[in-house]
Amino acid sequence: MEERSEFIVVGGGAAGCAVTSKLLKANFKVTLFEAGYSNNNFLINWPAGFFKFINKSKFATYHKTKPQKHLYNRENIVPQANVLGGGTSINAQVYMRGRPEDYNEWNDILRVNNDNVDWSWDTLLPYFRNMETNSTFNNEHHSQEGPLQVSHCDYINELTHDFINSVATLGVEVVDDFNGENPQKGVGYYQFMNNKGQRSSAANAYIDPEKNNPNLDLRLNSTIKNLIFENNKVIGVEFVNNKGIHKKHFAEKEVILATGSLITPKILMLSGIGDEKELSEKNIKCLQHLPGVGKNLMDHPECPLIAKANGKYGYFKQGEGWRMIKNGLEFLINRTGPINSVGVEAGAFINPINSSDLSYIQAFFVPSIYMNADTIGVVDPDYGMSITTVMTKPKSRGYVKLKSSNYEDPPEINLNLLKHPEDLKMMVAGQRFFLKSLKQGPLGDKVEKIILPDQQNLDDEKIAEHCKKFVRTNYHPAGTAKMGADNDALSVLDSKMRVRGIENLRVCDMSAMPVINSGNTSAPAMMLGLRCGDFLTNDINK
Ligand SMILES: Cc1cc2nc3c(=O)[nH]c(=O)nc-3n(C[C@H](O)[C@H](O)[C@H](O)COP(=O)(O)OP(=O)(O)OC[C@H]3O[C@@H](n4cnc5c(N)ncnc54)[C@H](O)[C@@H]3O)c2cc1C
Repeated sequence: MEERSEFIVVGGGAAGCAVTSKLLKANFKVTLFEAGYSNNNFLINWPAGFFKFINKSKFATYHKTKPQKHLYNRENIVPQANVLGGGTSINAQVYMRGRPEDYNEWNDILRVNNDNVDWSWDTLLPYFRNMETNSTFNNEHHSQEGPLQVSHCDYINELTHDFINSVATLGVEVVDDFNGENPQKGVGYYQFMNNKGQRSSAANAYIDPEKNNPNLDLRLNSTIKNLIFENNKVIGVEFVNNKGIHKKHFAEKEVILATGSLITPKILMLSGIGDEKELSEKNIKCLQHLPGVGKNLMDHPECPLIAKANGKYGYFKQGEGWRMIKNGLEFLINRTGPINSVGVEAGAFINPINSSDLSYIQAFFVPSIYMNADTIGVVDPDYGMSITTVMTKPKSRGYVKLKSSNYEDPPEINLNLLKHPEDLKMMVAGQRFFLKSLKQGPLGDKVEKIILPDQQNLDDEKIAEHCKKFVRTNYHPAGTAKMGADNDALSVLDSKMRVRGIENLRVCDMSAMPVINSGNTSAPAMMLGLRCGDFLTNDINK
């Protein structure tokens, strides 16, 4: 018998869980296909579990980029989730929405479409507001009635307080809310998608409450290979199920792609939607020529500053031996102690070139020496601290292409980080700014030595070299199936997230972004899923 449902959602990540919940609330029958595992796992719930996912875990796929021309030909590893909840099940949980200017820019781009859909901040704020139950704030910017738990970290290391005070000595305002009245400016404590040491992912917020809903058909470990068409109308998907069996599933209404910015363009291209010439090179028959598929790849570049402490400060060794047992027991018995910390407790948004303009650099402070693929072997594990500087509005653009027509092959990815000369200039200015915070104020008092970048004869050229050596993804690929104006040849989606020229197909994940938001991307991805859900339920009557 043919498998069918009213809607098929492909990818149970941030956006996929959100759109599924909207459809279920409108009483539709939904099949949600997720290639990865269940999110029911101790490491996923543990706040600092994030650090276990950066380098090696079954809950992530580690995509390798092409050698990056502007980063001394280094390959970047881009982890992407392989678990229900997607990135929100493995990420650092920092809760950030982006700023009004991000979405007002989208609105300027998109309102020229015939549908004239409003994407301005005033329209989107209720999506962000209604998404959360904020344990601290309840006002016109924040609600305490949404499904996503948002809170401050219950445990803060003393180095984190020092970071905030040192950055304040540089003239940066200390703020209590990065998502409030004057968002993404100043220095302060982050809020997290977490409550009392428990991660609050898109799966927890949007799928857990529906687990017993007979209209939800959740398929874990089921990988979508491609779409099935009847002329230019999508009628279903081909997939490999958890037993390795190849099958088909049909949708009576629509299929919604939410597999993230690296896989969504891959599925579109494998299904014959993309640049005709590129598809023919891979022996794929082009059904709809949309040259923008896979183009416009954006990501936030990040670069570390690392310092050794002059005492036993920070979290070094807190996850080992007797300390680990002590911290674990304290958490289990009282729900207190360092286990409540995600590890990244505070940060800042600044403009190192023009302080009165919008911020273009975000900083993350970690009260330990941050070990990733680039720093392992370069710095020794020790007592210390790291500040990661991230460019929030990169001008560089990369791409995702197919390596072959085989669905099992990973896509070819070129992030092109720092390709645009202004990106490098901004990164260097951001690094120089936060280096000062390691040299003065209470943080400066606890630094024995700045390890990265090497301080010998450090001028802007040397900082630029350091950036090229260490810049990597901040894990936010976006934009590879962008919404765009009707007259933009590279736009893949219209302003209601429908794939141009194809019936019954939408994309609602980070790929849909015309321009990447400044700051972290989970909340924006969930907003995209919720908004797509509203388009679907308003456009399609029961
Ligand atoms: C290590 C890491 C740290 C991060 N830290 C933060 C942070 O602190 N704060 C923040 O806001 N954001 C953070 N992010 C970013 C954020 O999590 C992502 O931007 C967001 O999850 C993207 O949402 P999405 O819906 O586009 O894709 P995803 O959430 O990645 O969801 C895509 C889903 O599709 C599934 N899938 C893939 N291929 C297939 C297929 N063929 N068939 C079926 N299913 C498939 C995947 O398994 C995944 O579950 C981080 C991300 C990572 C990876």
